[in-house]
Amino acid sequence: MSFRASVLTLYPQMFPGHLGESLAGRAMERGDWALETVQIRDFATDRHRSVDDTPAGGGAGMVLRSDVLAAAIDHASPPDDTRPRLLMSPRGRPLAQDRVRELAHGPGVVLVCGRFEGVDQRVIDARGLEEVSVGDFVLSGGEPAALVLLDAVVRLLPGVMGNETSGEFESFEHGLLEHPHYTRPQTWEGRAIPDVLISGDHAKIEAWRRVQSENLTRERRPDLLKAKKKPPQG
Ligand code: SAH
Repeated sequence: MSFRASVLTLYPQMFPGHLGESLAGRAMERGDWALETVQIRDFATDRHRSVDDTPAGGGAGMVLRSDVLAAAIDHASPPDDTRPRLLMSPRGRPLAQDRVRELAHGPGVVLVCGRFEGVDQRVIDARGLEEVSVGDFVLSGGEPAALVLLDAVVRLLPGVMGNETSGEFESFEHGLLEHPHYTRPQTWEGRAIPDVLISGDHAKIEAWRRVQSENLTRERRPDLLKAKKKPPQG
């Protein structure tokens, strides 16, 4: 069974977006993964097909209704569905490569895209939605976040990346940022490729890359080094 993504959204026309192109698009054509969108509005029950209402307790904006969203979730993901149900949310756990890898090893995902001020808390609790953030900033809707998550997951599915090994030594896979890259021309605007990289000495190249990787990580993301040193939690 291939990886199955169901995306619940008020803007299904935003999908597959860039995921219809390039590696992800070809993988979809081959059937390595499938994407279904569910229009949340189809589950509205009133005459005006409304999906949102004013926040209890007052305040700005509107809130996605729990009854409408729950009906959409139950349609896309019946109780025996083993796929994790994720709500794109700035309050969620920040998405990181380890969770991306876990998701890529699973049967698929159900992604709920919020809009307005957010989603009624009761549907989050009742349907066990795991809140996931793509960064410490606020988007106008969950759709770009869902596209980001799916992009990161789909490239790790078996057979999707042309060069299988190119997934192994990249940023975050070893708790480090990746070393810098160079390619021809050998000299460009007076800047030469570092000598070691054209030395042909693979052990030296490996060592150089490792040092670059560690230095970059120390300068830019010392938090990654700290996380790496932590003993395994059990
Ligand atoms: N009032 C909310 C923000 C709502 S933004 C708050 O302050 O927390 C509207 C929707 O965009 C959210 O429901 C969520 O689905 C999506 N969204 C916004 N920022 C996001 C982020 N950083 N990561 C994932 N989803 C996000």
